Amino acid sequence: MTIVIAIDGLAGSGKGTIAKNISSFYNFPHLDSGILYRSVAYLCHKGGENVFDEKRVLKYAQNLNIEEINVDKLRTEEIDQISSKISSFSSVRESLKIFQLNFKKIHSDKSGIVIDGRDITTVIFPDAEIKFYVTASLKDRANRRFEELVLNNPKIDKKLVIKELQKRDQRDMERSVAPLKIAKDAIVIDTSDLTIEEVNIIVQREIEKVISKKE
Ligand code: C5P
Repeated sequence: MTIVIAIDGLAGSGKGTIAKNISSFYNFPHLDSGILYRSVAYLCHKGGENVFDEKRVLKYAQNLNIEEINVDKLRTEEIDQISSKISSFSSVRESLKIFQLNFKKIHSDKSGIVIDGRDITTVIFPDAEIKFYVTASLKDRANRRFEELVLNNPKIDKKLVIKELQKRDQRDMERSVAPLKIAKDAIVIDTSDLTIEEVNIIVQREIEKVISKKE
């Protein structure tokens, strides 16, 4: 049996780092579902597409070949905003859902997988064995996002990063299809005042509980 560890959370909350750490500690394959939305956004942008036209955006989602995407191009302010816009289209979400469900299928020989995003605990894997909801203060999340973005754009304005993050939070939480919310049975982790090591301890303790029950 493959244990699904599902992680949702706000931008810059640290969910990606948590997912990567779980993946390397337990040797579970990891899917960052944000990469899927970012890739579609990137392709639309590159193709000069109207990102408000659902049908046009859907074509990119349906033909997505993640192997062909240079992930280094996906973490820009522009792609942040476009990915958050195109993620409100239900047909695009349905198309990317298939990709995410397949990820579990192709790893059915593994004892676990880890997947992070905005709707993993609520829509994609509502029956996941372990669910985490990761959050942090706006200040901490903006600092983390700034550190990432400044690598591509040394002139980036921190105030703008905060504003854009707020816009994205609002869009992700208020959209009508699969909005980001806390699943009833999710373990909530606020990473604001925790070190990565402290977070790892909390996360591993919860995972061990589930693994030991399965054994
Ligand atoms: O997680 P990340 O910041 O890379 O995601 C980029 C955008 O993709 C988010 O702001 C969100 O709008 C969208 N997304 C989503 N559902 C997911 C993962 C990402 O709507 N499962």
